[in-house]
Amino acid sequence: MSSIGIRLQEVKARLASACIAAGRGVDSVTLLAVSKTQGPDAVREAAAAGQRAFGENYVQEALDKMAALRDLPLQWHLIGPLQSNKTRVVAEAFDWVHSVDRLKIAQRLADQRPAHLPPLQLCLQVNVSGEHSKSGVAPAEVPALAAAVAALPASRVHLRGLMAIPAPADTVAVQRLPHRALRELATALAEQGLHLDTLSMGMSDDLEAAVLEGSTMVRVGTAIFGRREA
Ligand SMILES: *Cc1c(COP(=O)(O)O)cnc(C)c1O
Repeated sequence: MSSIGIRLQEVKARLASACIAAGRGVDSVTLLAVSKTQGPDAVREAAAAGQRAFGENYVQEALDKMAALRDLPLQWHLIGPLQSNKTRVVAEAFDWVHSVDRLKIAQRLADQRPAHLPPLQLCLQVNVSGEHSKSGVAPAEVPALAAAVAALPASRVHLRGLMAIPAPADTVAVQRLPHRALRELATALAEQGLHLDTLSMGMSDDLEAAVLEGSTMVRVGTAIFGRREA
């Protein structure tokens, strides 16, 4: 097996252990392989080892990779910031966007999603760590934004959940806090009648904490593909 294939198995084993420790089913968390800065060959290796869902941060880089890998049945998730001048190509090429943080972006994606494709799956990126990150909607603004995005045409976009990139922390106990905050936001939405099925949280260094707090999709780059070049 390739080194990427071996690391992929290691991450899956970590994920399974985390699910067991959390008292959850081992299939309750989807693994998104974050392939930003990796070339098409690395993605091909991961795909050969059974990986289907890939996360990308940079739109043009992702489009180039999709073109090079058109022969493979892959699912593409945009997890990086999205500017409004890029929404059309994103609506045409991606399956998911995790980084919606304002209504205008979601409206443009809904307007521009081609009718022959399934609805684009959306998550709202929430700034759960305050000053650490400038991207993401403030927690207090999530209920209004979620209601507005959920009201967009269902044939074009489908609001699936919430996403966060918490500040790094050294212990699982501290790592759990922002993940818990994201889960509690989703619980509050459910109490208002908006039921979302996705919590996109957990990366190479904190996936165990995220799974303990209810993550349904972890986004893992370094632990699968190795350190990225600066
Ligand atoms: C890069 C990135 C990841 C993966 O981070 P690793 O620490 O390499 O696992 C996950 N989510 C987002 C939004 C990222 O930008």
